[in-house]
Amino acid sequence: MQPTDTVADTICRTVELGVTITGAAADSKDRTHIWCSVIDPDPRCPECRIAGQLRDRAERVLTDTPAAGHPVELHVAVPRFVCLTSGCPRSIFRADITGIAAPRSVVTTRTERWILQRIAIDKMSVAAVAANLGIAWKTVNQIAVGAARNMVYDGGHLDGVRHLGVDEHKWKHVRGQGDSSWVTVLIDLTPVVDGTGPARLLDMITGRSKQVLKDWMNSRGQRFRDRITVVAMDGFAGYRTATGEELPRARIVMDPFHVVQLVREARSMPYPHPAGHVRAPRPQERSSLQDPPDPAHPRRVSHRHAEEPAGRVVEQP
Ligand SMILES: [Zn+2]
Repeated sequence: MQPTDTVADTICRTVELGVTITGAAADSKDRTHIWCSVIDPDPRCPECRIAGQLRDRAERVLTDTPAAGHPVELHVAVPRFVCLTSGCPRSIFRADITGIAAPRSVVTTRTERWILQRIAIDKMSVAAVAANLGIAWKTVNQIAVGAARNMVYDGGHLDGVRHLGVDEHKWKHVRGQGDSSWVTVLIDLTPVVDGTGPARLLDMITGRSKQVLKDWMNSRGQRFRDRITVVAMDGFAGYRTATGEELPRARIVMDPFHVVQLVREARSMPYPHPAGHVRAPRPQERSSLQDPPDPAHPRRVSHRHAEEPAGRVVEQP
């Protein structure tokens, strides 16, 4: 027979966090509380790197992944040490538990990963994830945005970008007035051109205007701007002007999707199917003439390309 704490650690996978369960309870709010202690805490002072003397333990409360469908709150007893090294500026310090949770985070590191997996892979809403974890929508959203940003902005994500893609995307589908619903999407098309892999998402910025793109390009630095040789876009005059002003040496091309879309809009015909059949357009492929007017831009239909003249020049020198 295994000791009870070993069984509990196995069920709750707390061993992988580097803690062992010392107690548990369920509260009236459907939440499971798990008390645990740190296995093999590092007693070394962060300043002088010499082992200190155990003083006491301080509780840190962290939301963990749900157990048996119920939200979990982890109460980690973090050892505190006294540094006895003479001359060391640190007198008291806590054991390093960055393997369990990032500094100041309210959730465990594995919960951050769990949140991203539920949203990105399982397509769960932020509200559903928040309900599963028993924490606020805003907290989940902040964690998801932060984690995604850390993955995208890995420090070298702009290196090697030669072919840049720019497009707009309607981010929010809300009624009435509100914040800008549109974002400008920046894509690295270099791997596609080189045949080394798929396109990469570089950035998404609020708004769709010449100034938005100008500001983004301008804040990237001269080395980045000098490296860009081609910018593919949808033909929006604002993006074209911004690129011409900020990347005067780059060639502006219209991306194939928008070329085909313009031709199709000009003909008001569905795509011929490769097998010879005529396929009905999908909902997102509807002619812009069928789309409802965009309340934020009365002159525009929901996609701007209806304003563009059909049969325009595809590539500009
Ligand atoms: Zn010290």
